Amino acid sequence: MRAFRLVAWQKPAELREVPVPEPGPGEVLIRIGGAGACHSDLHIMEEPGPEDGTGLPLTLGHENAGWVEATGPGASGVAVGDPVIVYGPWGCGVCANCRQGQDNYCLETNGVGGGLAEYDGGMADCLLVPSTRFLIPLGDLAPRDAAPLSDAGLTSYHAVKRSLHLLGPGSTAVVIGAGGLGQMAIQILRALSAATTVIAVDTAADKLETAKRMGADEALTSDGETVERIRDMTRGQGAELVLDMVGVDPTLRMAAQVARVLGDLTLVGLGGGALPVNFLSPPHECSVTAPYWGSLTELMEVVTLARQNKIELLVEHFPLDRAAEAYRLLHDGRIKGRAVITPQT
Ligand code: NAD
Ligand code: ZN
Ligand code: ZN
Repeated sequence: MRAFRLVAWQKPAELREVPVPEPGPGEVLIRIGGAGACHSDLHIMEEPGPEDGTGLPLTLGHENAGWVEATGPGASGVAVGDPVIVYGPWGCGVCANCRQGQDNYCLETNGVGGGLAEYDGGMADCLLVPSTRFLIPLGDLAPRDAAPLSDAGLTSYHAVKRSLHLLGPGSTAVVIGAGGLGQMAIQILRALSAATTVIAVDTAADKLETAKRMGADEALTSDGETVERIRDMTRGQGAELVLDMVGVDPTLRMAAQVARVLGDLTLVGLGGGALPVNFLSPPHECSVTAPYWGSLTELMEVVTLARQNKIELLVEHFPLDRAAEAYRLLHDGRIKGRAVITPQT
């Protein structure tokens, strides 16, 4: 089968021919309908990586959906042909965190998953998944459209849900970076807390237009006046929740300046920036957290939201032989929402 693989660090990934994996005991083979191109893949490709090339080759794609193609001995609960979305962080299933569905914080595996390290990902004709536990039925959603729910959707959902107690009437949430994840976060904020004023911030005008269409009340260009404007909009208090979906020094600085006393500053972006902490900044008792992905049950909730048409993904499809082009466009900021690789076309 074909697989879009990282074969050398700091080099673009390439399409290669690899054997179709054979599902072993408990494992499942998924025929991929869609594999989303996440900005994290660009971070992975840009990393220097170990000099001896450990960890390579690696098939990319950690945002996957498709159909059950084959089941290994003892794999139960799914049937060949079922449309499913794949929960990405693959935990041991038995540690205390996994038993709560939080495989993203597995105490044994740290929530590593296919396409990130150790296991090949879904930018290929087929993906081997270690357990049926990681498969959530998609119902009437098409895999090629639903795939980004498993990361752009789930990560944003978790980041919003953990702060819902702050988002009552009159509250404000700021979303910095309205790309794949940010667009999901805006809609999830709308769906879960209709009473919150949502402010989107981005450097790209087209992303701000999309943000408005997705339900942002305000869409601000990231510039020297953004902080003052957000502080004005919040009567000088700042926002209850600030989601930084970029995570570079300037966005983190902005986040600390527009967050509120007793608020949440949630760093989701892997831009590599750092946040200085002193007695006055971030504001008093503002909690700073950096969540990784979300839980299995939260993915079920995200799929439900999508099936209820409460969240809509702006998906652009690319056949497998155009995966490299999709990443180039993502790198250049020219993907409108999410690029999804569709090996079936
Ligand atoms: P994306 O490329 O689709 O979107 C990024 C958006 O940020 C774009 O709209 C871009 O215009 C905007 N942007 C860039 N610089 C900016 C700045 N200085 N100020 C304001 N906006 C700016 O990326 P994505 O796939 O949505 O991923 C976003 C980030 O989240 C990435 O760093 C990715 O690695 C990370 N991520 C983290 C997790 C997690 O579990 N924590 C999961 C998935 C992705
Ligand atoms: Zn991702
Ligand atoms: Zn575990």
